[in-house]
Amino acid sequence: MKTFKIGGIHPQDNKLSKSVRIENIPIPEQVIIPLDQHIGAPSTPIVAVGDKVKVGQLIGKASGFMSANTHSSVSGTISKIDTYIDSFGYKKPAVYINVEGDEWLEGIDTSNQLVPNYALSSKEIIQKITDAGIVGLGGACFPTHIKLCPPPNCKIDTLIINAVECEPYLTHNHQLMIEKGEEIIVGISILMKALEVDKAIIGIENNKADAIEYLEKITRLHENIEVLPLKTKYPQGGEKQLIQACTNREVKSGAIPASVGVVVQNVATVFAVYEAVQLNKPLIDVFVTITGPELLHPGNFKIRIGTSLSDALKMAGGTPENTGKIIGGGPMMGRAFLTTDIPATKRSSGLLLLPEKQAKRLEPSTCIRCGKCVYACPMGLEPFLLGRLSELKIWDKLEESHVTDCIECGSCMFTCPSHRPILDYVRMGKSEVMSIIKSRVTK
Ligand code: SF4
Ligand code: SF4
Repeated sequence: MKTFKIGGIHPQDNKLSKSVRIENIPIPEQVIIPLDQHIGAPSTPIVAVGDKVKVGQLIGKASGFMSANTHSSVSGTISKIDTYIDSFGYKKPAVYINVEGDEWLEGIDTSNQLVPNYALSSKEIIQKITDAGIVGLGGACFPTHIKLCPPPNCKIDTLIINAVECEPYLTHNHQLMIEKGEEIIVGISILMKALEVDKAIIGIENNKADAIEYLEKITRLHENIEVLPLKTKYPQGGEKQLIQACTNREVKSGAIPASVGVVVQNVATVFAVYEAVQLNKPLIDVFVTITGPELLHPGNFKIRIGTSLSDALKMAGGTPENTGKIIGGGPMMGRAFLTTDIPATKRSSGLLLLPEKQAKRLEPSTCIRCGKCVYACPMGLEPFLLGRLSELKIWDKLEESHVTDCIECGSCMFTCPSHRPILDYVRMGKSEVMSIIKSRVTK
């Protein structure tokens, strides 16, 4: 069975919310909608305090090439345009809305019926995706319309759908495929039209047998869409790892997938594209796994953007008393949150609550040069060296050692018998080196 070639690990999958049907989180009394839910410049607010808005209405306009539109996820009155404190304690721009009813913008199809047919050109599809503020929902939040317009020297021949969900604990993408498989297949054909390609591969790990069987069944009549079961191995959802597993093509250091003729889209993004193009629905809600070993009801939820994660957490049983760590995302690539009193955004994919015992990191000891981190690294790097260079702040050597190739998967730290916080150091060093490179380029 296919997989990527270098490194990788096999953490326990802990999919506690597997097969739990997606539930809607109730609409709250107030939402805080951040204007920076994507890579690039925050959108510019186009509403004022006191304005009435409807569900799906544009409230923030993309401000520049690398940006995305922001829409209201509720109907109500704009109460404030201000900042909010994000999950890491930083102030970010946001629009506050007091909710009144649930009135949707005219033209958005809320019937919940499958809409299979479309007759749009590639250009029209990309425009709809741009208007709808769609971004990559695999965590990167890269504006989707930019990914659909690769550089002219790159000839795209294959669309890969990232249906891997290799992070332990996370299950919402798996459940989405079970519940919305037909919509996802329509979304794939729309993206194929947008890219003008005649081949799509759904890369999915073999631990999702029910989803594989279902997708194979509903793609029987779609000769150009292949469902490709992959060997379960972390981090198969990494873009470069997935491309290699599905096509045997290698994206070189510093290059983008389009350089090998591929565009990758996450399965939740594909569903958002379906909704944008077929239902005229902008990106106003996200699918999130809320989970943890001590949680009463770990599950998969659909949350209106701007809803407090604390409110959403109540649906999963609330915060257990012995919670030692709150993680946004999965345990491997996720980041520790200071609080859950923050709004759900396009970046939200998981909320993991670990009990104190599991959250505690073991005391690190000296590196014993065992090389396990090197074997585990899917990017062929030397994590022990990157960690040490970061620790010593030797930025030029760190850059020469390709720290910018690190995908922050955490495989190195997972395998380290000395419990060294390699990922923390590498992340810190990578961010420093990236800002050095940026200032060099803009000089
Ligand atoms: S160095 Fe980066 S890419 Fe390599 S295993 Fe560690 S986190 Fe993953
Ligand atoms: S796995 Fe840990 S102990 Fe082994 S070489 Fe890497 S950093 Fe050192």
